[in-house]
Amino acid sequence: MKMAYPLLLSNFLERVNRLYAKKEIVSRDFSGEMRYTYGDFYRRVTKLANALEKLGVERQDRVATFAWNNHRHLELYFAVPAMGAVIHTVNIRLFPDQLVYILNHAADKVIFVDEDLVPILEKVADKLTTVRHFVIMTDRATPLETKLSPVSYYEELLAQSPAGYDFPKDLDENSAAGLCYTTATTGNPKGVVYTHRGIFLHSLAISLPDAAGISETDVIMPIVPMFHANAWGIPFAATMAGAKQVLPGARPDPRTFLQLMEKEKVTLSLGVPTVWMGVMQLLEKENYDLSSLRAVLCGGSAPPRSLIEAFERKTGALFIHAYGMTETYPLVTVARPKSYMKDWPAEKIYEKRAKQGTLVPGLEMKLVNEKGVEVEHNGKELGKLLLKGAWIIEEYYNDPRTAGSFSDGWLRTGDMATIDEEGYVQIMDRAKDLIKSGGEWISSVDLENTIMAHPAVLEAAVIAMPHEKWQERPLACVVLRPEYRGKVTQEDILDFLRDKVSKWWLPDRVDFLESIPKTSVGKFSKRQLREWYAANNFERPAMAAGQGS
Ligand code: AMP
Repeated sequence: MKMAYPLLLSNFLERVNRLYAKKEIVSRDFSGEMRYTYGDFYRRVTKLANALEKLGVERQDRVATFAWNNHRHLELYFAVPAMGAVIHTVNIRLFPDQLVYILNHAADKVIFVDEDLVPILEKVADKLTTVRHFVIMTDRATPLETKLSPVSYYEELLAQSPAGYDFPKDLDENSAAGLCYTTATTGNPKGVVYTHRGIFLHSLAISLPDAAGISETDVIMPIVPMFHANAWGIPFAATMAGAKQVLPGARPDPRTFLQLMEKEKVTLSLGVPTVWMGVMQLLEKENYDLSSLRAVLCGGSAPPRSLIEAFERKTGALFIHAYGMTETYPLVTVARPKSYMKDWPAEKIYEKRAKQGTLVPGLEMKLVNEKGVEVEHNGKELGKLLLKGAWIIEEYYNDPRTAGSFSDGWLRTGDMATIDEEGYVQIMDRAKDLIKSGGEWISSVDLENTIMAHPAVLEAAVIAMPHEKWQERPLACVVLRPEYRGKVTQEDILDFLRDKVSKWWLPDRVDFLESIPKTSVGKFSKRQLREWYAANNFERPAMAAGQGS
């Protein structure tokens, strides 16, 4: 049989150079702003590929990045896989021992590191067993003092390398293009391999009109880090489309995002709910012209419905809710109303849009109960979510934990969900976060989102606390907006919930905290909260104490 035409990332790269060489990429770098074209970008990517070859990088070798969302990172996103190697995007917020584990487990050969992150790598460098070379990415002309060795400088490497590179066309589309580690509930992070074919098809899927609807006319700013599931695949999809890209650089804050949106006329941006909560808080105090913004994509955890409504009211942009995981490149479902719903009452439409949404083409899903039987599509029966498809991984990279996470080719997501008659999936909880009270379940996500609709509440996370009679009961951890601190009581919160949730869902206790701890990718860390509380016998822990009334 003749081999099918391989779906390779070099196709996106060469096409963007041929068709969109004049279009812009804007990157907030260490000295201000870098603005160049896809034509310049392509030239630099070919130089980088030559430089990588000179450093001894061969096909399927792992090349790590330790970097923010910026133009050099984008160049690595293409040069590394297009020449046949594998880009390992490392989470810059991992603990040192996790960092050492993943860099050694991935057997990275070269690490590219942003200048301000060098001290983090210096602390672990002597524990790295496979790294042969470090490359520092900086705008400065003079070399930095560093203990990393042997070391080169990105701009120098490019200056010394010829332009023009013959990207190989004989790569297997199923070969690895990327590698990303996802933090596990227990133990070390688990490796997820992304293939050329998977990234190619995912880029097409996320660009569909009923997903993010990406086109050449877009100006796209990924806020989600390029080390978190490839910034949800957006750098690939945006390059495929030839869309202008805006990369917000090191340590960006809500003001940076809003200023960039206004100045660069961003049309589409992407981030987790905590990002949009921060943006909304600032929008209450400062004015920005966001008339170019057509949509934001939000995923990673469930945005409260109140956030969706408030964001759309304030900005006029569409708030698109989507769901996925590192293991799924990540897009799985998108919550868009269907055309025949247009005359439905707003209330009912928002209900659908706050769910995680419907499955994108190319994937299959199953919701099964304890006995492994598929649940009814009635929006009520809870099941474990299983996935397979064109870009769902079938194993973890060199990891015995694969056996526990896959069955018969299905990925066991660890998420508990319902599905309604219309095919809208609702993630009720991570299996481990679900609160089991007297044999019935309570969705912590649902409770949190209902609490966050209270005007005084900034953040809320609900965890289970042990109970003699009911086994578990909900404990709500609430952060008040600064102006409400000390003025809101537990009773106020419970009163607000009374007509919105079943009586037995009402939290047994509401603790007012200074902030909710966040994970390395900006989600609420219920694991951390649980640890604090467990260590403190479920009294309010000292490190969490704060503004309570
Ligand atoms: P990660 O791989 O770190 O992005 O984590 C993936 C997990 O985040 C999923 O298995 C879900 O538990 C959660 N998640 C992702 N998107 C959503 C969403 N839109 N709503 C609720 N949970 C989500």
